[in-house]
Amino acid sequence: MLNISNLTKRYGKVTACEGINLDIADGEVAILLGPNGAGKSTLLKSVTGLLKYDGAIFIKDYHNKTPEARRIMGYIPEMPALYPNLTVSEHMEFIARAYRLENYRERADRLIDAFELTDKKKKFGDELSKGMQQKLNICLGLLPDPEFVIMDEPMIGLDPHAIKQLKLIIEEMRQRGRTVLISTHIIDSVDMLWDRTIIMQGGVIRADITKARLDAAGKTLEEFFFAVTEGVSIEDVRQSSEVFGG
Ligand code: ADP
Repeated sequence: MLNISNLTKRYGKVTACEGINLDIADGEVAILLGPNGAGKSTLLKSVTGLLKYDGAIFIKDYHNKTPEARRIMGYIPEMPALYPNLTVSEHMEFIARAYRLENYRERADRLIDAFELTDKKKKFGDELSKGMQQKLNICLGLLPDPEFVIMDEPMIGLDPHAIKQLKLIIEEMRQRGRTVLISTHIIDSVDMLWDRTIIMQGGVIRADITKARLDAAGKTLEEFFFAVTEGVSIEDVRQSSEVFGG
């Protein structure tokens, strides 16, 4: 589904991603895990075509900036970008029109209901709390039912009910063969819902491991994460080409 070769992104003197190679298979639920500043958001924004970068990114053999690739991808950004003068319902309608969705209302209502926004349908974007904005942000990203969903720190600001709903939706997407790439810096938010975890640190991939392999090694993700990331400097990380678990 996703093929990244030699992705490097610099913001002035800051190298946010350096020489990243990554493939995500069709139907995989992959977690991009790493501390703050590791380069996760930069990687995801590069994939969605929002940034300029060096390297090549393909979605199912389409260059990521082509309309074909954009139709396959859905992106849920870390910061919700809502319109202050559109209501919750109007936001959903806006996405439905942009993607030319037909018969979307039932799916829209189900999503809004799952995230407990039904009684907020007539509220404007700027009348919603931060948590509600994030829930609507997720509903908007999921409405077109994309084949490949990219979520940047989706659990931030969600209440426990919404986290549970999101996990159920991810599980349901996996069962329907959807491909999911989720970034997070919170290991606890990951628990059961992944096939593969990619650990980033200092702009590079430090580890890449499947759940099956980690289970076979009798380790928790937390143990593995700290074994990989603790006690190393960014300079050490950049100079080492070792990828754990792979
Ligand atoms: P993460 O998502 O893992 O927290 P980011 O991709 O947001 O990491 O950031 C990676 C690095 O790039 C950090 O050092 C961050 O400060 C820097 N960075 C991110 N966005 C910008 C930007 N727009 N301008 C300058 N530096 C940035």
